[in-house]
Amino acid sequence: MDGTTALSGTGVSPGIGYGPVHLLVAEVPEPPVGARHDGDAEAERARVHAALEQVAADLEARGEKAGGEAQAVLSAQAMMARDPALAESVNTAIGAGTAGARAVYDAFGGYRDALAAAGGYLAERAADLDDVRDRAVAVLTGQPMPGVPEGGGEPFVLVARDLAPADTALLSREVVAAFVTEEGGPTSHTAILARALGVPAVVACAGATGIKAGTPVLVDGATGIVRTDPPAGEVDGARKADEARQAVLAAATGPGMTADGRPVPLLANIGGPADLPAALAAGAEGVGLYRTEFLFLDRAQAPGEEEQYAAYREVLDAFPGGRVIVRTLDAGADKPLAFLPPPGEEPNPALGERGLRMFRAHPQVMETQLRALARAADGNTARLAVMAPMVATREEAEWFAQACRTAGLPEAGIMIEVPSAALRAADLAPAVDFFSIGTNDLAQYAFAADRQLGSLGALQDPWQPALLDLIHTAATAAVSAGKGCGVCGEAAADPLLACVLVGLGVTSLSMGAASLPAVRAALTRHTADQCGLAAQAAREAGSADEARAAARTQLPGLASLAM
Ligand code: PEP
Ligand code: MG
Repeated sequence: MDGTTALSGTGVSPGIGYGPVHLLVAEVPEPPVGARHDGDAEAERARVHAALEQVAADLEARGEKAGGEAQAVLSAQAMMARDPALAESVNTAIGAGTAGARAVYDAFGGYRDALAAAGGYLAERAADLDDVRDRAVAVLTGQPMPGVPEGGGEPFVLVARDLAPADTALLSREVVAAFVTEEGGPTSHTAILARALGVPAVVACAGATGIKAGTPVLVDGATGIVRTDPPAGEVDGARKADEARQAVLAAATGPGMTADGRPVPLLANIGGPADLPAALAAGAEGVGLYRTEFLFLDRAQAPGEEEQYAAYREVLDAFPGGRVIVRTLDAGADKPLAFLPPPGEEPNPALGERGLRMFRAHPQVMETQLRALARAADGNTARLAVMAPMVATREEAEWFAQACRTAGLPEAGIMIEVPSAALRAADLAPAVDFFSIGTNDLAQYAFAADRQLGSLGALQDPWQPALLDLIHTAATAAVSAGKGCGVCGEAAADPLLACVLVGLGVTSLSMGAASLPAVRAALTRHTADQCGLAAQAAREAGSADEARAAARTQLPGLASLAM
């Protein structure tokens, strides 16, 4: 690639990064198909198990050095290397004469395919598994471990097909200026760790690995634009704008509010207590979406009442006097749980037994969770609200509200993420205490576009006027019934769209902690009337791009934030 070119991906960690490209290529070649060992199966097995143990120990040592979130990720990888079922399939293959390196490669391959087929969070763990495999194959074939240079010189932009936690865990802003990957989504480890490190990152950037090593690139982790060989003036301009933006964001503090004083509580989306420090540091006023299924993922059995109680209590304790909205288990489709398999074959899991449907089918799981929640709220000053995912009808909303009342839970709401619930919101509102709109699934179902498919990204765009209409219908119905209506899907994290959502009638916004400062700053720069005009202009547009452009003309304060 020569001359100045611009590639475009998804910005997942805001900020500007500039430096020469370091290409992380798959440095460990696949062991030849059909490779055989020298006949001593026992010796080969011992060699493989020693290699897997060496890899596990190395990952753990890196984790201890890194600490925090990275340590948890690396420990999980070490567990993959020590997995007994994996060892079993390696042993069997070696027994049949397969060389150790090939046996390892094939055994990991089986797991990888299963994870990739599961989709969602699990599919995004496939890169972690590949990395463990490559490390073990490298040890067995006498090659250096794959990885990233130690640093010491000018910070580089790390470009890869995908990044494994072991590549990124020991990096810092001093070593790496930005991450760019061709694969990955907003919930991949590249994204999570980049945000935790404060390193700008762009994922799903097609063509990135085609950039020559050493080429200087400018990465915008907010817009997702990656420019090769940028003129010096452009780099300076981008850096200055970023510094100014950081200063403005740091200056906006306090509760969420429009310029004319309409309160819009800004809440955090969390997956568990580990996300609390970032939420508190970003000034979250409470929790708008606690995705409790993280407590249930990757387990053979549901967590017991005590374990759940402890996790919920920790979250409530973090927000004395604040509001904490906990979503009941959202199992199925992109969040499959080993101990809650669907009752039969499901050709379309996203349209199958999931969310509230699954919860109803397993009353003991539901009762345990609601009991643990009620106990956690008891004697706590935080205001606990509980909501159900994937509600489609009034009967389901009534059923859930009644189940919460029976469990002694004072506030029961529903997510609006199925179009039928949005269209009939006026009928559903009296049955519950609040709505929270899940724009990720609402877009998936409104446009019949699988949210896991990158190729359908344009239909998943939350600026689509049809989606804005559904949000407007739901928010208006809630407000007329005197109920609150939040948004907790990814749409709330876009500062421009956040203003439009307020204009559509939404009363609170919940997002990943990293997005809170920019949304807070965007709201303080616009009045409720300006938000209303922006919402109207966006709904009158004929496409997502037109809606975005029309809203921007009504929200001039965003220019000073370089958004
Ligand atoms: C949503 O669907 O918008 C949502 C917030 O829920 P999840 O992303 O967990 O499905
Ligand atoms: Mg959802």
